[in-house]
Amino acid sequence: MSKEKNNLEMLRHSMSHVMAAAIQKLYPEAKFAIGPSIENGYYYDIDFGDKKLTEDDLPKIEKEMKAIIKKGLEFERSEMDVDEAIKKEEKSGQIYKKELIEDLKSAGEKKVSYYKLGDFEDLCRGPHVEKSSKIKPGTYKLISLAGAYWRGDEKNKMLTRIYGVGFESKEALADYQKMMKEAEERNHRKIGREMELFRNFNEIGQGLPVWLPNGYTMRRVLEDYMWKLERSYGYVHILTPHINKKELFETSGHLGFYDKDMYSPMQIDEETFYLKPMNCPAGMMIYKMKPRSYRDLPYKQGEFGTVYRYEKSGELHGLQRVRGFTQNDAHIFCTPDQLKEQFLEVMEMLEKFYSDVGFENYRYRLSLYDDEKDKYVGDRKDWLQAEETMREVLVEKGVEFYEEKGEAAFYGPKLDVQAVNVFGKEDSISTIQVDFNLPERFDVHFIDKDGQKKRPFVIHRALIGSFERFFAFLIEYYGGKFPVWFAPVQVKIVAVSEKHIDFCNKLAREFFDNDVRVEVDISDETVGNKIRKAVKEKVPYMLVVGDKEMGSENLMIRDRGSQDVREISKENFFAEIRNKVVEKK
Ligand SMILES: [Zn+2]
Ligand SMILES: [Zn+2]
Repeated sequence: MSKEKNNLEMLRHSMSHVMAAAIQKLYPEAKFAIGPSIENGYYYDIDFGDKKLTEDDLPKIEKEMKAIIKKGLEFERSEMDVDEAIKKEEKSGQIYKKELIEDLKSAGEKKVSYYKLGDFEDLCRGPHVEKSSKIKPGTYKLISLAGAYWRGDEKNKMLTRIYGVGFESKEALADYQKMMKEAEERNHRKIGREMELFRNFNEIGQGLPVWLPNGYTMRRVLEDYMWKLERSYGYVHILTPHINKKELFETSGHLGFYDKDMYSPMQIDEETFYLKPMNCPAGMMIYKMKPRSYRDLPYKQGEFGTVYRYEKSGELHGLQRVRGFTQNDAHIFCTPDQLKEQFLEVMEMLEKFYSDVGFENYRYRLSLYDDEKDKYVGDRKDWLQAEETMREVLVEKGVEFYEEKGEAAFYGPKLDVQAVNVFGKEDSISTIQVDFNLPERFDVHFIDKDGQKKRPFVIHRALIGSFERFFAFLIEYYGGKFPVWFAPVQVKIVAVSEKHIDFCNKLAREFFDNDVRVEVDISDETVGNKIRKAVKEKVPYMLVVGDKEMGSENLMIRDRGSQDVREISKENFFAEIRNKVVEKK
């Protein structure tokens, strides 16, 4: 760890002591748990008893922190015998500290250290800055409150966690706040609400987002795009049911390896069913339904399949972490000799897709077998062939990648694609995996040239990954300003007044006939309000239609992000949109 990083961590941790000291002064009954430094700041978990703190209390605490810092108090270290320390905490009612010291005692510690800052003394290993005045004005800020179970255990009491941020300089804090504000502006839940892309309804169910008309339009555009792309590479498509019989998941092994991620079974007549956590088992049945010869391979089977996997309610987040989602799934059955060309082909499709959606920054992670671990199925020889093939393809393509031992799935090595957004936030979008488990379990085979039954290689691949997770990334990547080709509404027509509505509707009809996604605002609002609304909806093109525009053959277009109006003929405008859709620019 670098010295600067160490210093910054020490500074942040010292800030958490100052915060705790301020809290003790304001809330003498508070019981303190732990207060570490974290990325960008620090937190402290505190039991406030019956008192409920809100964000409105934070400025008061900050003010008290300021006073403590101004005093230039020193962090004074002292040591105490463990038993004495336990007694001390017991006497002062600091039950969490007492428990921490008891743990240290059972770990064999004889002494513990304390740091005193004015009247506030805290059990701590250190280190800290020498005095509180080392923390400069304007370099720290308390930002939020959250509930946190003592020791992260749901059976324990829920404490209040107060988060603060802290930096070495005022400027660094200002930069951080600016970045956070921009990131918040791009937050996919916020944009999803404003642009009516998706919505979570408590009444429908947590982690089961609903695609609203605008979001579903975008999803359909991307689904159609992927359908066409896959067909151009010789894929066929299937659609399998959301629930499958228990026996299928016994054959696949999901009920042994994956049942913690599956929902409770349901009984229908005499049989037991499960919501499918993966599309693969049903896909295997379709491969197996008739004999396949080497001439049929590679057989590329795509499915826009919806799956359900358990996620803890506390971890559900917008479209990012959900309980039901649709994958852009596909299974490629090929001979061992075809493995390399199939990998190359999938990567070629992936590059085209990323370029068309505008993702420029991404890297590959090659996730490999680990000899130390004993969790894999399949023949090591096959693994080595697959791993080597994947590596060869990455090197040949000259793409950026890194290898990670032990990150492979239990059933085979995989290639994950990490996309990076403008804020450097990384997310795993696409995945390409070799499977040595299902072909065995379902006993799938093909008849080779020599008339022998042989086992094909199976590649699972998902380019869009899941639509839900992909959209969470996509929305934040573009901050809602989507390219024309998949923007939910491409053109917004604003009628200046009542008498312009018929003309606007007729115009919209013409747009519609030219495959343009258009919407007319005929609401009772003022023109100014309607324009502001269209700007907020981030529509690529806007047309405001009043008397003057009604009298013209040409269109007066306002481009997204511009105040200016440009005049263009209808034919040229339709051609412009068509071109953007085709070129994906
Ligand atoms: Zn400390
Ligand atoms: Zn699969």
